[in-house]
Amino acid sequence: SQEMLQQSEKLSVAGQLAAGIAHEIRNPITSVKGFLQLMQTGYGEKEEYMEIMTSEIDRIEIILGELLILAKPQITKYEQANAQKLLEHVVALLGTQGNLHNISISTDFEVEHPYIDCDENQIKQVFINFIKNSMEAMPQGGEISIELQRIEERMLRICFIDQGCGIPEEILEKIGQPFFTTKENGTGLGFMISKKIIEDHGGSMTLKSKVDEGTVIEVFLPTEPVNEAHLTTGKR
Ligand code: ADP
Ligand code: MG
Repeated sequence: SQEMLQQSEKLSVAGQLAAGIAHEIRNPITSVKGFLQLMQTGYGEKEEYMEIMTSEIDRIEIILGELLILAKPQITKYEQANAQKLLEHVVALLGTQGNLHNISISTDFEVEHPYIDCDENQIKQVFINFIKNSMEAMPQGGEISIELQRIEERMLRICFIDQGCGIPEEILEKIGQPFFTTKENGTGLGFMISKKIIEDHGGSMTLKSKVDEGTVIEVFLPTEPVNEAHLTTGKR
């Protein structure tokens, strides 16, 4: 049945995720263990080993931190929040970091009463993930534009447009798979988590990208109030 199919799909995603987690965390642990053994032999620079071990442990912390977002209880606190205010807050937060890298963020917000029913921190996390990805795609600097529109009476569209490196077609379908990253220090979790949060909010997203031109991410979020029936099954 449809339900069984969904269930087995969920299980395979869980299995995939578990394998990914095991792999991602075993690597830094193996490395720390190796350096501890080296230190026991008294060989080499202790200071240097300590530094590497600390950065390996930092990496584990970052990965676990992101995974904990996924593990959050299904029933989160949904409240009316002004999407424009949330965007402005995140832009202010990341703007200074952008300036340091010659990145400017322009905004086009012209929506009356842009209220969405959401868990504020989760939605902010989504905005941060997308803007950070755009910033990381523009090492030479450039512009990120963010648009907020109402496309239907009860639907907002938030668009993130960058002038970054873009995504080659052959890896487009891998974006959002757990731990898929093209970055040396990436976790490959941001996209997947963002998509999940958006879907938990009854929304959807699209990704379009062209190598050397840039990337466009569209997020659609409903403005409707929470449906209690959905809440109790944790299935929003
Ligand atoms: P991470 O940022 O840790 O690599 P994400 O899940 O956020 O993990 O992104 C996965 C991959 O998607 C990135 O490594 C990058 O290759 C690609 N990507 C995401 N957003 C963009 C973007 N705006 N421009 C170019 N590539 C992107
Ligand atoms: Mg990212």
